[in-house]
Amino acid sequence: MTQVYNFAAGPAVLPAEVLRQVQSELISYKNSGMSIMEISHRSSLYTDMAFQAEADLRKLMNIPAEYDVLFLQGGATLQFALAPLNLANKYHKIAFADTGHWAQRAQEDGQLLSGYTTEVAASSKLSNYTELPSGIELAKNYDYLHLTMNNTIEGTMYKDLPYKGDVPVVGDLSSIILGQEYNVNDFGMIYAGAQKNIGPAGLTIVIVKHTLFEEAPELPAMFSYAKQAAKHSALNTPPVFAIYVAGLVFKWLLQQGGVSQMQRRNEEKAQLLYDYLDSSKLFSTPVTEKKWRSLTNIPFVTGDKAIDKRFIVQAQANNLLNLKGHRLVGGMRASLYNAFPRTGVEKLIEFMQKFEKAVGGTR
Ligand SMILES: *Cc1c(COP(=O)(O)O)cnc(C)c1O
Repeated sequence: MTQVYNFAAGPAVLPAEVLRQVQSELISYKNSGMSIMEISHRSSLYTDMAFQAEADLRKLMNIPAEYDVLFLQGGATLQFALAPLNLANKYHKIAFADTGHWAQRAQEDGQLLSGYTTEVAASSKLSNYTELPSGIELAKNYDYLHLTMNNTIEGTMYKDLPYKGDVPVVGDLSSIILGQEYNVNDFGMIYAGAQKNIGPAGLTIVIVKHTLFEEAPELPAMFSYAKQAAKHSALNTPPVFAIYVAGLVFKWLLQQGGVSQMQRRNEEKAQLLYDYLDSSKLFSTPVTEKKWRSLTNIPFVTGDKAIDKRFIVQAQANNLLNLKGHRLVGGMRASLYNAFPRTGVEKLIEFMQKFEKAVGGTR
């Protein structure tokens, strides 16, 4: 098999060790004679697996007991609607930091729910979302402030919370969860689609402080954090395979030294690429201010769409895959999640140097 490097933003690269383990126990999970996809979600084979996955995630993120951990479906996108329904029950009013595409999608869905108001508390639109709003101040009459902690498309991230007040913070951590250390206590709720930095699509992680949804009106089962929490996320058939693979990734992360170790490696990988981009005469990243640069999603351009296109095609031919930027911003994007190896970044830079030399010679 050819060694390729997958720079996709999501679904994204998984640890090779985990894939091999999945393969080795696919036909007969724990000598049951059945695969993990064929067992009952009411069997102890399932419940033991799911409880262990939750315990390992709690350990990795240091999640306090007063937070529930939910394994849901519907992607991060469904939480754009479920967070308001479960958490915004005092003022029915939510503040948003407008930091780019996903923050806007979250606000739009919140606004569509009848009876709820959304407001932009801060925006970095003026910088074309290459920077992030900080020092956010809020009146008290909001149920929560929504923050997209890592802007997957624009390549910006918050390493610290930009708001220090009493209004709870709901963080979309889809593309940074387990890649950077955050203090769960700083959030009322954290959510993330699994397919970026954790495992297969189909699983959404929700970490939510129990007291925040206790006052919610009764909701249909699949919408309700309270009902999901009471049934340990198994009130209907859970995404068993996705939870199983996520659980293996959690074990892998613990073996690697946990989130602090991942963050250190991610910083090293990202630094290599940013250093090259800052020194290159051909390539540059639109996120010029270092403090806002994402660890996991790094957009870059040449400034010439035809050259960008040629670069992506030639990179692909050199086994450097999925470097095309999001259709909204164009250019290129390298996603360097936890499972992405440092060698892949070195190969990319080597290739970019060669390409730069060749273009310099033909222009
Ligand atoms: C990818 C992404 C989403 C959407 O995730 P789905 O799981 O596909 O719904 C939402 N927010 C952020 C920050 C993302 O990167």
